[in-house]
This record gives sequence, structure tokens and C-alpha cells, in this order.
Amino acid sequence: MIPFSYNALPTRVVFGTGTIKQVPAELARLGCNRALVVSTPEQHALASHIASLLGAFRAGTFTGAAMHTPVEVTSAALQQVREHAADAVIAVGGGSAIGLGKAIALRTGLPQVAVPTTYAGSEATPILGETDGGRKTTQRTPEVLPEVVVYDVDLTLTLPAALTATSGLNAIAHAVEALYAEDANPIASLLAEQAITLMAPALRILARDPSDHAARSGALYGAWACGTCLGLVGMSLHHKLCHVLGGSFGLPHAPTHAVMLPHVAAYNAASAPDAMRRIAKALGAPDAAGGLFALRQALNTPASLSEIGMQAADLDRAADLAVANPYWNPAPVTRDGMRALLDAAFHGQTLLQRIN
Ligand code: NAD
Repeated sequence: MIPFSYNALPTRVVFGTGTIKQVPAELARLGCNRALVVSTPEQHALASHIASLLGAFRAGTFTGAAMHTPVEVTSAALQQVREHAADAVIAVGGGSAIGLGKAIALRTGLPQVAVPTTYAGSEATPILGETDGGRKTTQRTPEVLPEVVVYDVDLTLTLPAALTATSGLNAIAHAVEALYAEDANPIASLLAEQAITLMAPALRILARDPSDHAARSGALYGAWACGTCLGLVGMSLHHKLCHVLGGSFGLPHAPTHAVMLPHVAAYNAASAPDAMRRIAKALGAPDAAGGLFALRQALNTPASLSEIGMQAADLDRAADLAVANPYWNPAPVTRDGMRALLDAAFHGQTLLQRIN
């Protein structure tokens, strides 16, 4: 017997093609009358399109969402909530738009409908990261979990090939860390294994043909499953390092996940053999870290931290930050270990050769 505890999250999920047409019915089900649609500036056309589908449920749009949920953007959006007397928020886009929806819900208690268009997975979690004066803080509270998530495969067809690949690897990182989480449980582990099994081949197809509808469907389903894992169990070293690299050195979110994942898997390999066996099986590879490295190479995403803006002079400080308030991790998180791991990821050509 392996003892565990498990908390189900109460989000309603609608998955399919053309499902954005169901958003008004979902608002009615929530008992809402006037929804504010929020997005990034780049997705203003999609936000307007969804607003136009709302009919009498339409309150307005706010298209100022930005990466890492700056509090000043949230203040501007709250002004729109008040001016339009909105009683619901619809967040359309990737983690940036969904983060803004969560920040509004935290401050107003308004119900949220999330319509994700990347594979980041924020819509499935009770986690909100916000930035204030350049400082990022993260909290976990059920207040920010969206009431409804509407996945529409059609909306992911426009996701650019490069972001498709890095966002998909960002999703796989949730599943990888779920399999060796301190609070791993059978449901999250089953979902994680299935998510990697679906996501990895879908991403390989999408790297060649971003318009392949069946692969888009598999990837979005995988993203739901990966995001659900992120919401169900705690994350470890990989997410800690990406948090440090994004928060303190300004590296881009999804590409940072893509670069780091195989190296962290190599670092943890000897300390989490069962998880590594399941990851390798899901990837159809002889070993987990090597399989993740090969997948990343096949997807042609950035291979090193140096390529995505990290400076060699900052590696020591990054290693210091990685060992300060570390997340639980299967392998011991040492200063020397972090420095070696970051060095391998900085250069990127070969996997960390470290046997724990
Ligand atoms: P993003 O939301 O910033 O999107 C990147 C860009 O791609 C934006 O310009 C966006 O408008 C555009 N885009 C998104 N979908 C598109 C599509 N289908 N077609 C064309 N363009 C599209 O990027 P992201 O990686 O999804 O999210 C990153 C943010 O989410 C970070 O702030 C991260 O911290 C947060 N996040 C939070 C959680 C959580 O659980 N709280 C989980 C994952 C990510």
C-alpha cells in the first residue's frame, strides 16, 4: 500500500471544437448576466470576437493583460469591471490573460470562465503569481480557481510553431514533476503519464505542421491533463529554477521551461527511479532525461540558457537563489549541484552528467 491524500478541484471543463459558442450558456449556468472579456493586446481580435458572441451577456473588453500579472494592470482592469458593472470575467488567451482573470476574481469574488489558447495550464490551478514593483509573489488559494474552463481546439490553431513547442514542454514539465511530487497521488500520476504519452507525439507533428487538427486536439487535451497535475500536487526543483530564472533574470516563461526540463530530470534521475521509468515509458525512450532531451531537440526550441538571455556572470547568483527557500525535491538541492545543473543548461549541448 502506498498511502496518499487527494483533493479534487471543482472546476467544470468543456472540451471540444467550436466550444466558444457555449460560453453564453456557461455564463447562464453560473447565474451571471454581464461578462468582461480580458486578453493580451496581441489577442484583442479574439477577445472582440468572443465578446460579440456574448449577446446580452456582453459587458466589455479589456485587452491590457501582460506576463506575470502586474498589479497596475489588474487595477486598470478592475476599473473596467466597475464601469461596466460586470458580474463575471472571461479570460481568453495564455497564462497572462488567465492570470489577470484570477487576479480580478481574487479581489472581487467574480466567477471566471477561462478560455485557454496555450498549453501553460494556469486555468486548471488555484495558483496566482503577481508582480508588484518588479517583485513576483505566488499564492495558492481556491479563490482564484476558474469556475469553468472552455477548451476550444480551434483557438490553438493560431499558436505560432515556436510557442507551440515551448508551451508544450512547459506543460510536460508539470506532468514530469507531478510523477515525483512529495504529495504524488494515483490520479495525478495516471493523468501525468497519459498527458506525456499524448503531448510528446502531438508536439512532434505540430513542429512539422502547426495546422494538424488531430495533433492540436491531442496537445490541448494533454495541456488540460498537465495543468490538472499542476493544480493537484506540489512542484519541485524544475519549477523553482524556472521561477528564479524568470523572476530574477527576466528570462521568458515557456522557453525557460523548455531549456531546463531535461537537465532537471537528469539531476533527479537517480532519486526518483519509478517516476523516471514512467516518464521514459510515456516518451517511448530508454530513459527519461535522454527522452526529454531528444524531444526538445526534435522540436527545435532554444537549447541553452545563453540563447534565451541568461548572462554567464549571473549563474552564481542564480545558484544562490535556487538553494534559498528550496521547494521539496527528490534529490538533495545543494549549491554545488545547482551550479553544475545551471552550467549544463547554460551551455545546453549535453545533459548534466551527475549521478546522485
Ligand atoms: P502568454 O499568455 O504570455 O502568451 C504569450 C503570447 O502568445 C501572448 O502575446 C499571447 O497573446 C499569445 N498567444 C496566446 N495564445 C495564442 C494563440 N492561440 N494564437 C496566437 N497567439 C497566442 O504565455 P503563456 O506561456 O501561456 O503564459 C505565461 C504566464 O502564465 C506567465 O506569467 C506564467 O507565470 C503564468 N503561468 C501561471 C500558471 C499558474 O498556475 N498560475 C501556470 C502556468 C503559467
